[in-house]
Amino acid sequence: MTSATVTNSPVIKGLAIYGGTFDPVHIGHLRSAIEVKALLNVTELRMVPSFLPPHRDQPGASPEARRAMLDLAIAGLEGISIDDRELRREGKSYAIDTLEELRSEIGPAAPLFFVLGEDAFALIHTWHRWTELTDYAHFVVLKRPFEAATLKEPVLEWLQGKEIADVSSLNAEPAGRVVTVKLAQWEVSATDIRRRIQLAQSIDFLVPGPVQDYLIEQQLYQ
Ligand code: ATP
Repeated sequence: MTSATVTNSPVIKGLAIYGGTFDPVHIGHLRSAIEVKALLNVTELRMVPSFLPPHRDQPGASPEARRAMLDLAIAGLEGISIDDRELRREGKSYAIDTLEELRSEIGPAAPLFFVLGEDAFALIHTWHRWTELTDYAHFVVLKRPFEAATLKEPVLEWLQGKEIADVSSLNAEPAGRVVTVKLAQWEVSATDIRRRIQLAQSIDFLVPGPVQDYLIEQQLYQ
């Protein structure tokens, strides 16, 4: 009789995380989450709302409201979930802390992907312990429809030997690579949505209907 090998480690083939303030979550985040999940062929993509982004103003909505809007936005999206560890951790939300925790949870061999827009990536040299980030995950950079800031010299140096042209070989390694991908691009930002609300302009179709209902009901960003 043959016996199956039983291990205690969770069966995670590859995990993608998509961090942000999500103040509020919008179609740009959601469409790119869906498309990048399919591109990477991962079973799970987690949206990771930050409690306090280290390098920007305090979010306009509370952590609870941002989380509630994310819940409404991803309801029914297969394989997309919320990882609220940064909200529970409170304080400044450092990506390195999140990546360290996730790596120890999924084990050393499973590929981990950190998804972010190229505007966010252009500021990577300002992140806490930034040179260590790729020790824990691959970085998947989403092209944006506008010209992104040029990468600083230390970032270009750090990228040497890490950058690859396409995602096909990413699953062979758990971490360490940086790839830029061009998916459908949506010229929408949370800043623009907050501004439209202040100006009493339409945000129809920029956020999912239930998120829009919530925003109105809670009188957010007015
Ligand atoms: P804000 O306008 O307040 O800066 P934002 O719309 O950029 O917000 P964030 O929550 O700050 O949203 O962004 C989280 C991540 O999503 C970042 O990596 C950012 O580059 C990316 N992102 C934001 N908008 C889009 C979009 N339209 N398409 C693809 N990625 C996006």
